[in-house]
Amino acid sequence: MQHPTLIGRARTSGCYDSRPMTDPTPPAPSHAPVRVRIAPSPTGPLHIGTARTALFNYLFARHHGGTFILRLEDTDGARSSIAYEKDILDGLHWLGMTWDEGPDVAGGADIGTYGPYRQMQRLDRYAEAAARLLDQGDAYPCYCTPEELDAERKAREAAKEQPRYSGRCARLTPDQRAAFLAEGRRSAIRFRIPDGPVVVDDIIRGRVEIDGAQLGGDLVIVRADGNPLYHFTVVVDDAAMGITHVIRGEDHLSNTPKHVLLFRALGAAVPHFAHLPLILNPDGSKMSKRKSQTALSDYLAEGFIREGLVNYLGLLGWSTGTDEDVLSLQDLIDQFDLPHVQKGGARFDRERLLWLNGQWIRRLSPDELVDRLRPFLEADRIAGRIARMPSDEEIRALLPLIRERLPMLGAVTETAGFFFADQLELDPAMLVPKRWGPQTTIEGLRAARGAIMRGGEITFEADELEAPLRVLAEERGWKVGDLFMAIRVAITGRTATPPLFDTMVALGFERTLARLDRAIEVLVVSAGA
Ligand code: GLU
Repeated sequence: MQHPTLIGRARTSGCYDSRPMTDPTPPAPSHAPVRVRIAPSPTGPLHIGTARTALFNYLFARHHGGTFILRLEDTDGARSSIAYEKDILDGLHWLGMTWDEGPDVAGGADIGTYGPYRQMQRLDRYAEAAARLLDQGDAYPCYCTPEELDAERKAREAAKEQPRYSGRCARLTPDQRAAFLAEGRRSAIRFRIPDGPVVVDDIIRGRVEIDGAQLGGDLVIVRADGNPLYHFTVVVDDAAMGITHVIRGEDHLSNTPKHVLLFRALGAAVPHFAHLPLILNPDGSKMSKRKSQTALSDYLAEGFIREGLVNYLGLLGWSTGTDEDVLSLQDLIDQFDLPHVQKGGARFDRERLLWLNGQWIRRLSPDELVDRLRPFLEADRIAGRIARMPSDEEIRALLPLIRERLPMLGAVTETAGFFFADQLELDPAMLVPKRWGPQTTIEGLRAARGAIMRGGEITFEADELEAPLRVLAEERGWKVGDLFMAIRVAITGRTATPPLFDTMVALGFERTLARLDRAIEVLVVSAGA
């Protein structure tokens, strides 16, 4: 028996794929070469958790010389969009992942022989599978209205019973069905969930056993409007695409028994399962879009680099078993294995991410780093945070000073913006070191200027500048730190900077003197006022 609504919909859908269904027969998971997939729904921007799940699938596939597939679960027409699809595919590509099958770019054509890889183009497959389950008696049409189901749910709630479909349409006679149809009722399709234990041997979590009776009763797999639902489509596709290992977030673990039952009913080999630990906030609470920074694009905008993010995500719930933690994508591929994935939740530690990102920033070649910094500097110029766009040579000259101090590319202006300012915004209060007053500061800066002038432009080198300025402080009975701090703020406008003498050299003789002059002037004006 076929389900008229779904079949009708599949046939009339604009996405209907008119090719005959000649899907290749997938090999049995236990002996087959690895085939894994990431199956995002394009209903939001690429989530950091999806990126981590994609990465683990990718690493597993590459480690075993298997196939990595991208499938779009786009059946939620109202919430899916091409903009999200693009955000997800671009984000995965940006992280350095490539897939062997699936749409190559957002809106693009499929690669691979098990396609189509968008669920909206596979409606005929779901219709066929639903028809098969109906024929076999593993599924049945359910005519219950939303109101009837709601009343049933409330009654169970009042009786303090777990939510569960009563099964009132499970054993209808042909006459009863005909009567419902005559009333104009439309039917959903329900899959029969038998009582009895369902066992999942999860590679990470070990043996998980759930009784069928706990699964909420017979499961709607196709809605009355003809829309096939996630639990069903995911299994039909995993079976048709020969997925050998389903590696996904732990939030899906409770769904897996239903999936196992569906695989069996469809006569398909059940894949291996590996449920990854959830990503948690530092306080152990669940990450949510509202409370946490979850969109990969936000990390990108801050100037996290792909090498740092991939390294961090690779260690988010997995470890090499050694202390080694700076790992390239290739290192991760070489070493990744599922048994070393942890069971407990993986706390998101931004400090560690910043540290790893910094490690990778300093490993970039100077040319590469200049290339990657340029868009951030350009954005800061447009936002008015720096007065002008520095040349590549200027950026390059600063790298030795800043590369070890950049946790992310977006910190470049914070770290080095003072180099490119035509005129610093100087706060007189900040110019005066804690133990000094304005007059001492004016004196100190004048004396420092004199010492620098005496040294002259020829010996304006980091290791030539320190000694005379130290001698000056000693002669005047000043603490060296105070003098250096006054100079630092005068030439940078900031109290924390790269090493002082290197900074002076990078600014140059003339600009250093000009900035000292201006700081003195600012202090004189403010002291006189
Ligand atoms: N579209 C589902 C999700 O994004 C896929 C789940 C699965 O991997 O089975 O959560």
